[in-house]
Amino acid sequence: MSLLEVRELSAGYGDFQALFDLDITVDEGKTLAIIGANGAGKTTLLRALAGVVPAMSGSVRFDGEDLLAIPAHKRVERGISMVPEGRQLFPSLNVRENLQIGAYSGRPGEWTVDRVVEIFPLLERLLDRPSDVLSGGEKQAVAIGRALMSNPHLMLLDEVSLGLAPVVVKQVYAALPAITGTGTTVLVVEQDIAQATAVADDLVCLLEGRVRLQGTPAELTREQITSAYFGIEAAS
Ligand code: ATP
Repeated sequence: MSLLEVRELSAGYGDFQALFDLDITVDEGKTLAIIGANGAGKTTLLRALAGVVPAMSGSVRFDGEDLLAIPAHKRVERGISMVPEGRQLFPSLNVRENLQIGAYSGRPGEWTVDRVVEIFPLLERLLDRPSDVLSGGEKQAVAIGRALMSNPHLMLLDEVSLGLAPVVVKQVYAALPAITGTGTTVLVVEQDIAQATAVADDLVCLLEGRVRLQGTPAELTREQITSAYFGIEAAS
């Protein structure tokens, strides 16, 4: 059974519709990369799944439940954890405390501060530092670690690479197999098409709020992907 089944999902902000009739299915333990140009609706999709943007119509089944009936504050308990763009750590708390806050939902599972440090060794010497002195990449690792501490079944990662040095992006993506290996499904918004293709089991390309293309990286050509990304009609 699929972990996440999105059917004809429309969502937006007030009267403004940002997503139109999305159909997306993701299996347990898989990584789905969501690509698309600025304003395509990638972040809105993650927000709609986290419950911070209301759905206008459609349905979402998550782990056998009707997700749209579950209020946003209950979705973390149900196993959905979002790493928002801009990371949003608590600046006055140290790294260890930021990580521990992620565990507040009390979901059982294997993630501990020590396990997070295993997949992000760069955090070991930073555990007692206030999070506001960290570099962008270090903050990203803490933000992902904090999300993992809730033992999510579905992790929503927004704009992972944004503003990070390539070497740091590599470290963040190197942690993915350890995350999906525990059965966690990952939805990752990624601007970099090559990066998305390299890490994902499935790709969805959004264009102006609609699914323009989806498939596995192996079945999609680079030309198909770039055409969908930029909204160019593919040459026949
Ligand atoms: P980006 O890479 O620029 O973040 P995106 O694909 O994530 O792009 P969204 O941020 O989901 O796109 O935006 C989709 C549409 O919704 C855009 O037209 C955007 O202007 C609009 N939008 C996003 N956030 C809000 C908001 N808080 N209020 C109103 N409209 C919004």
